Amino acid sequence: MHVPPSMHESDTGKRIAVIGAGPAGLTVAGEMRRRGHAVTIFELLHVAGGVLMYGIPEFRLPKAIVQREIGALCEMGVNIEVNMVIGRTHTVQELLDGDYDAVFIGTGAGLPRFLGVPGESLNGVFSANEFLTRINLMKAYLFPEYDTPIKVGERVVTVGGGNVAMDSSRTALRLGARESVIVYRRSEAELPARGEEVHHAKEEGIQFQLLTNPIEFIGENGNLKAIRCIKMELGELDDSGRRRPVPIEGTEFEIEATTVVIAVGNGPHPLIPQTTPHLDLNRWGSIVADPETGLTSIRSVYAGGDIVTGAATVIEAMGAGKRAAQAMHAFLT
Ligand SMILES: Cc1cc2nc3c(=O)[nH]c(=O)nc-3n(C[C@H](O)[C@H](O)[C@H](O)COP(=O)(O)OP(=O)(O)OC[C@H]3O[C@@H](n4cnc5c(N)ncnc54)[C@H](O)[C@@H]3O)c2cc1C
Repeated sequence: MHVPPSMHESDTGKRIAVIGAGPAGLTVAGEMRRRGHAVTIFELLHVAGGVLMYGIPEFRLPKAIVQREIGALCEMGVNIEVNMVIGRTHTVQELLDGDYDAVFIGTGAGLPRFLGVPGESLNGVFSANEFLTRINLMKAYLFPEYDTPIKVGERVVTVGGGNVAMDSSRTALRLGARESVIVYRRSEAELPARGEEVHHAKEEGIQFQLLTNPIEFIGENGNLKAIRCIKMELGELDDSGRRRPVPIEGTEFEIEATTVVIAVGNGPHPLIPQTTPHLDLNRWGSIVADPETGLTSIRSVYAGGDIVTGAATVIEAMGAGKRAAQAMHAFLT
């Protein structure tokens, strides 16, 4: 992403709108600016960087590194407008009808999934997105100096077995939880997190309650007090090619906890799909885009990163950004 300020070609007079300042959008912005186009990034949060800033914890990715890369883009002349919710402040069509010759959508997969069990709206139940954003972006750990609080009890339970669950449980330890427990419905062999992330979590003392699923969050005066769980066993293979977890009747038990973090995956944010007529979506609500060019069903609108693939990786998002920039440049010139 890092390109020295002098390294862009002479201005082409073309204007590009990039929606979302995550790795996909930032890559498109850098690549298009380098080719001489005027680029504006619209970002809904008050800080650019996407998951690199609000999701991945500081102990794995220092925010100063991300900000240095973003600073280099600004020096090249990329304009970043934060607190701009596309789909509300402007629609994609308004951008095209206005000043912009092409639009790139890189809005990520930031819509948290929940379990759909009773008690999920109790105080103390967080989605991993909210938990990590409050900590990474809103400095909740410095409350009341910063005005966003976070409640971390003696025992924090994280539900899920992916990398986001590992990050959340390790973050909970750093916020002072005495015990940080991961509850996952399959066995260790099926944990979707990378082996090294599981290894780091274990090294730090994260406990794993495997083959276990929450069935209810129990509260007192609106606050979480305990999680009712059931033991699971593995049955037949399911659509994902993994053995399906099946509840074992009569094995219900409770784990006392005042904080639970739900890290069971994210879906595409529906705002742009809902406000952009003629934008083709797949059955999960992700934007359909050509894998080689990022072109969507709308002429001059491109997309890439997690909003197309579903939650994936930084490298994949950057790769999609690079390919889309090449195609947009060819289209514009
Ligand atoms: C906790 C966590 C840890 C992870 N760890 C790793 C890891 O170690 N390695 C790895 O490779 N990947 C990791 N990932 C995945 C990786 O971060 C994502 O795949 C990657 O960030 C996707 O990039 P993106 O640009 O598509 O989307 P995002 O990074 O999600 O950026 C999208 C941006 O668009 C903005 N936006 C959304 N809607 C709008 C709108 N309507 N208007 C304006 N702006 C909008 C969002 O605020 C956000 O800033 C992790 C993810 C999480 C959540």
